[in-house]
Amino acid sequence: MTKAHSPTVELASQLVSRASVTPEDAGCQPLLAERLEALGFDSYWLPVGDVSNLLCLRGAKGPLLLFLGHTDVVPAGDSDKWRSAPFDPQIRDGKLYGRGSADMKGSIAAFISACERLLEGGEGLPGNLRIGVLLTSDEEGPAVDGVRAVAKTLCDLTGPIDWCLVGEPSSEQSLGDSIRVGRRGSLSGEITIEGKQGHVAYPDLADNPLHRLAPVLHTLAETHWDDGTEDFPPTTLQITGIDTDTDERNVIPGRARARFNLRFSPALDADGIRQRIEALLADHAEQAEITWIHSADPFSAPAGPLREAVMAAVEEINGQTPRPNTAGGTSDGRFIAPLGAEVVELGPVNASIHQVDEHVATKDLDDLSAIYQAIITRLAQHSPEPS
Ligand SMILES: [Zn+2]
Repeated sequence: MTKAHSPTVELASQLVSRASVTPEDAGCQPLLAERLEALGFDSYWLPVGDVSNLLCLRGAKGPLLLFLGHTDVVPAGDSDKWRSAPFDPQIRDGKLYGRGSADMKGSIAAFISACERLLEGGEGLPGNLRIGVLLTSDEEGPAVDGVRAVAKTLCDLTGPIDWCLVGEPSSEQSLGDSIRVGRRGSLSGEITIEGKQGHVAYPDLADNPLHRLAPVLHTLAETHWDDGTEDFPPTTLQITGIDTDTDERNVIPGRARARFNLRFSPALDADGIRQRIEALLADHAEQAEITWIHSADPFSAPAGPLREAVMAAVEEINGQTPRPNTAGGTSDGRFIAPLGAEVVELGPVNASIHQVDEHVATKDLDDLSAIYQAIITRLAQHSPEPS
């Protein structure tokens, strides 16, 4: 880089240069621990298998604001398609390019630099707020050995978690236009129907499993699952794959398989969905099997002090009122919400995440850091002074 950039952009660039494809952390967390320890945070290393998990905590008393983030990134894909190498951070036209710049190394850097401005050699925070930072290197992957695994023991270290601010890229068109106050549940299924293979010219001697699968898929695609709830859009189902055990023009396959995924609102639960689909399948095919992966239940946080602070901070820094919503994929917030925390997600624009040439505007990183700082200050003012 030729000219000096803000501490937020510098730190985001340092993180992008560490190729931390899940479950690798590639040295991101040690760098962040060092920065936080200099501010008086204590570090707790919570590795599980190949996954690095780090909790940094500051303060002994008062309500806790926990910032939740992940240092891992999805693979770069075809590196040749990138204008600059995916793990070589480059700034062009006011944007920082590199894998993880938007999802979500930029927001981690923004939170750390906000803490540095507030805590470095200054008067400290008003009030009595404790601050925690929880980082994992397994959010983009199976998400089993990350926050899900440490959530069980987390409260032993932190005590009750009052507020959880997740740095996932929640913004759509411009920074802060959208914040997440919950997420839909996720349920995947795979249907296998056995038939009898044969020559297409002799269908009487065969049993075509695709002909049984097709009406099932048609019904799945046409079903109106629910109307959603006040906070959640209606449940949706997408068919994600169909295949058979043959690939010939003149052979009736012996087996057919289809995969699908539902993103569901709290109007439904995973068991109810499973029962509906299993009953539908039983109507169409005797020799059918279905396997399920239930990766997330829906969660939502009622409006509370964190949402209030986030809304006010965004308005203060960039003058727009965020739209609270529950769209998007799942996030690790789902493991913290059941612990009783109010969970809100606020991060940069998500338009380029997981794509070739992932990027984030450097101005957005600096504004995000100012917004995080305003959130911390507001919550600290909300927390009673030690008596
Ligand atoms: Zn992410």
